[in-house]
Amino acid sequence: MISSQKSMAALASFSLLRNYSTTGRIVSSVRTSAYPSSINFLTPNPSRRYLCRASATHDEQAAAKAAAIDADNGAPTIFDKIISKEIPSTIVYEDDKVLAFKDVNPQAPVHVLVIPKFRDGLTQLGKAEQRHGEILGQLLYASRIVAEKEGILEGFRVVINSGPSACQSVYHLHLHVLGGRQMQWPPG
Ligand code: AMP
Repeated sequence: MISSQKSMAALASFSLLRNYSTTGRIVSSVRTSAYPSSINFLTPNPSRRYLCRASATHDEQAAAKAAAIDADNGAPTIFDKIISKEIPSTIVYEDDKVLAFKDVNPQAPVHVLVIPKFRDGLTQLGKAEQRHGEILGQLLYASRIVAEKEGILEGFRVVINSGPSACQSVYHLHLHVLGGRQMQWPPG
């Protein structure tokens, strides 16, 4: 069962990579250990968070590992408070299933998080099951709506960090929609 879930997640990220248009890239960072963690990439906008993608600091690795410990205990995350409007956010797009809001620590001129309003076991992409297919598609489509609203439809990137080795810090599935500057490849 677990191995079939893993295969499905791997398949999902593979097909995301294959099917996305040339205007953007979907980076599913499941198992980013495939990328050497010691390589630093020159970027126009280096920052601590960006370095986490290229050369994770011990602090961020430790924080990511700590966050992963409680990932599946059902406890609410900060995103639940954003959904309930208990804490403020700058909402870019909202419908009955999806919420998109600006990242509090932006890594690009446009950096929006797209999340499902109902977590439903989707603490991370690596936990996706076949039944999540519809919401996963809605999240991707909402990312496109966000890109259009933010004026970056010509070129943008969608990133999903899944698990501690990808530096995931909030265990409620979220897509990072990034744009407004030239992106580099490969990512960190
Ligand atoms: P990740 O590291 O992929 O789990 O991404 C979590 C993201 O949530 C980070 O980019 C944070 O900057 C962002 N974040 C955390 N708290 C908030 C908040 N209150 N409002 C907006 N973004 C947040």
